Amino acid sequence: MTSRSCSRNRRKRRARGSRPPHRRSRRTEGAGKSMEDSVKRKLEQFYEGSDGPPLRILPIGGLGEIGMNCMLVGNYDRYILIDAGIMFPDCEDLGVQKIIPDTTFIKKWRHKIEAVVITHGHEDHIGALPWVIPALDSDTPIFASSFTMELIKKRLKEFGILVLSRLKLFKTRRRFIAGPFEVEPITVTHSIPDCSGLVFRCADGTILHTGDWKIDESPLDGKVFDREALEELSKEGVTLMMSDSTNVLSPGRTLSETVVADSLLRRISAAKGRVITTQFASNIHRLGSVKAAADLTGRKLVFVGMSLRTYLEAAWKDGKAPIDLSTLVKVEDIDAYSPKDLLIVTTGSQVEPRAALNLASYGSSHSLKLKEEDLILYSAKVIPGNETRVMKMLNRISEIGSTIVMGKNEMLHTSGHAYREELEEVLRIVKPQHFLPIHGELLFLKEHELLGKSTGIHHTAVIKNGEMLGVSHMMNRRVLSNGFISLGKENLQLMYNDGDKAFGTATELCVDERLRIASDGKLLDALHKAAHAALSSCPINCPLAHMERTVSEVLRKMVRKYSSKRPEVIAVAIENPAGVLADENKGKLSRNSSVISALRKSVGHEKKRQHIDVREVLATSNTEQELEDYDDDERFLNEEEEETTSNTELPDKAPNMDEKDEFWKSFIVSPALDQSEGNINLLLEAECEEKAKEESSKLDPVPPVSVQKPPKPVNRNKWKPEEVKMLIKMRGELHSSFQVLRGRMALWKDISSNLLLNGISRSPGQCKAQWASLVQKYEENKNDIEKQKSWPYFEDMNNILSDLESNKASK
Ligand SMILES: [Zn+2]
Ligand SMILES: [Zn+2]
Repeated sequence: MTSRSCSRNRRKRRARGSRPPHRRSRRTEGAGKSMEDSVKRKLEQFYEGSDGPPLRILPIGGLGEIGMNCMLVGNYDRYILIDAGIMFPDCEDLGVQKIIPDTTFIKKWRHKIEAVVITHGHEDHIGALPWVIPALDSDTPIFASSFTMELIKKRLKEFGILVLSRLKLFKTRRRFIAGPFEVEPITVTHSIPDCSGLVFRCADGTILHTGDWKIDESPLDGKVFDREALEELSKEGVTLMMSDSTNVLSPGRTLSETVVADSLLRRISAAKGRVITTQFASNIHRLGSVKAAADLTGRKLVFVGMSLRTYLEAAWKDGKAPIDLSTLVKVEDIDAYSPKDLLIVTTGSQVEPRAALNLASYGSSHSLKLKEEDLILYSAKVIPGNETRVMKMLNRISEIGSTIVMGKNEMLHTSGHAYREELEEVLRIVKPQHFLPIHGELLFLKEHELLGKSTGIHHTAVIKNGEMLGVSHMMNRRVLSNGFISLGKENLQLMYNDGDKAFGTATELCVDERLRIASDGKLLDALHKAAHAALSSCPINCPLAHMERTVSEVLRKMVRKYSSKRPEVIAVAIENPAGVLADENKGKLSRNSSVISALRKSVGHEKKRQHIDVREVLATSNTEQELEDYDDDERFLNEEEEETTSNTELPDKAPNMDEKDEFWKSFIVSPALDQSEGNINLLLEAECEEKAKEESSKLDPVPPVSVQKPPKPVNRNKWKPEEVKMLIKMRGELHSSFQVLRGRMALWKDISSNLLLNGISRSPGQCKAQWASLVQKYEENKNDIEKQKSWPYFEDMNNILSDLESNKASK
């Protein structure tokens, strides 16, 4: 630190021109410290003066966990960022959709981060860009391959932060300058197109970062794993190699995609009836294999499930799509074809609640009705954590009688991550001086380290996120350092996003409080009882809308009293014997048994005409999106892409529940259970407070919105008057359909899609919630002529709802 000078010019030398970075004079170019790196964060420990090792590694995410890959690689104090991925939350992070690397740290260091380089387009490598990019300087370039860049562009556009001039395409084996390094991307094979390993060269040494990889000897796109580049690199000398540890525990080698393509073709050729496949949407090559099999067997291809299109569209823009989306048979035309002429491609291999195959397994999909004669090819892996629900879905399908083909022997799937023999082969080819395992749980990293040592590499290390390592190239006898040098540790924090605007630390998003409310059970239990009591007060045969109003009113009051703030309560009453939604709820909370027990308590009586699943969702609504776009072998635990509203306010400190027993009693009128309409399953999810949102908007000026939202971020709390009018109109047109108890969610889906056609992006849940509040407002206003006049929607609402009243009367 002694030679450091705060007044030294610390302007970044950006990637301009094609000059390779030249050797810098020693010492004066060592690590520096700017004024804004104040003592607060104890950053001093990261600073090695000019005597320290010149190459530096600081993982922000991805080491010691699966997901959130994000790493700083530096030459002295000049850094580039490799990848910016997300991780999915575990069961305890209620209402959280994405976990994002520590953007506050990235922001503090932004003056040192001269470029971002992306290895490939999986979510665990690009998903955090909408939060990471705003934390960087406004002109920091982002480098990626062309297919990956299409995905990035789409995402940044959705978040309204697309600046094309910052995006730089790279091609494999073409060197470019990024920050202090000359970067050379090399082709690696994986489970999504256009993946690269990255070679970073500077005067102080050479670093190889493999990205995610496997060795596919006969890849479908012909882009073979570039062993030659690695052999050349080995001769040149590699100071440090970092390699993907995901499958280090799997012995042997991975299968080629070609083998999978053959297996698919064999099965499809032999099939007599309809064939249905399910696979990961991001594996474009696999979709290409399905398409090829369809062509060879004379079957027409049908896509059921939206996420299939996202990646194909990116591939299409990149000019490499194996399927022309315009040639697909439309879902609604399925019945016009003989079953033996169809090949149906679906989403839902991980039982994402709203994915096509899952809905079909319940018989609840409008577009896909499974039949006994159907053959289902499960061309995916069951991601660890999803086993139980996958098995349940397969049981349901078996019940229908369809044949399911899956499992290792069928060779309908292969991993995108190298198995042990491949890992060893690459270690032996490259023979790096130093080896650092990356991309994996701590256990995998340690095992990979042992594998490295067994190939004769002396200097290996295992580090976790926030631990900084330094390394020097060893040249002949002029050894600058011996092995890795620890350069300090930073307590990085995780950032959370709720799928909507809320973004911040666990404290800011009240993650603990959510869990406490959920696991304590008292609030849930009280709400549950109150909901039931309210329901009991409804007359027999009363419309579902009336039940919803009654229940939400009671719950709103109750939560308001509990939290002293205004909650948003959405009650959804549906007839639901098999319980698609109940199962969905269960899925969301399936790793929290105490929550489930609170939720599952059934207080209904059995002599019912119908079962009703009342979901009380505080400020929560779902979208249709499936989570198929992720790295297949990585352990993503969440169920679906979900939009979440966060306008419920919770208290800073929840009241002591024990003291509140009397409080609860006041709400729970003695329930007349005999009148009850049915089973009630209650899901309560308390969302975070406005304050957290404000805080988060301070941290991050860009309002992040859910992944698959259309370009403009939507403030869901503010429906524009014309949007409301449109909603009322559409809901009104379907009013008679809504009186049928079954399939009401599908109607909301239709409304949502129709709104989208009119340029209005609202999820079915949002439409439903908005309608519920309109109905409530209508109820409040209908007996007050003054209020009727001042409320612009009264007439429209009255046209719809007064009909209902008269219909009811006439029955
Ligand atoms: Zn990955
Ligand atoms: Zn990947």
